[in-house]
Amino acid sequence: MKNIVLFGPPGAGKGTQSAYLVDKFGFVHLSTGDIFRYNIKNQTELGTLAKSYMDQGQLVPDSVTIDMLKAEWGKYPDAVGFLFDGFPRTEAQALALDEILAEAGQSIAAMIGLEVPEEELLARLLERGKTSGRPDDANPEVIGQRIAVYHRETAPVQGYYEAQGKYMALSGVGSIESITASLSEKIQAL
Ligand code: ADP
Repeated sequence: MKNIVLFGPPGAGKGTQSAYLVDKFGFVHLSTGDIFRYNIKNQTELGTLAKSYMDQGQLVPDSVTIDMLKAEWGKYPDAVGFLFDGFPRTEAQALALDEILAEAGQSIAAMIGLEVPEEELLARLLERGKTSGRPDDANPEVIGQRIAVYHRETAPVQGYYEAQGKYMALSGVGSIESITASLSEKIQAL
């Protein structure tokens, strides 16, 4: 079982690359952003709560996010591996994930970080906002807030995996195919 965390700031291309990696390796893709958006669309209680944070560019509280992730993860006992996308986004989430996996005798094989310069992120998110229908992509202030939250709360998670010798970085700039190829190479070598 290969459990991979795909890491990087908003707009780095985690969602885009996940789709290719799922196809290629058969991972179960667990994207907390996607799960929250699914709940918003279906007007669940969780969706209403998550929306109030997401629309402001803030993180959904750890306890809510961790409980949700654990429940989703538990739905796939026969998975060949998981691709975590958008989770963990805080050190508390990283600790919780290690605990959840350890209880099942599993662990994270690697965190792979997609690195993209800030101007490029802003441009990508604004472009995506024209068609994604995501309110958090349409507003430059909210995008700025998400990037600030990334630096403050999420970037330290990299250090958590570095300390375990599990972090690897990869440039997220270039063609989608070339980035998929580099990611696949790293995953295959694990
Ligand atoms: P992006 O990486 O482009 O910001 P996501 O779809 O991963 O997009 O996340 C969208 C929003 O969902 C975040 O800004 C945040 O409000 C919420 N969210 C997603 N994952 C988490 C998480 N692990 N912890 C807290 N909030 C989250």
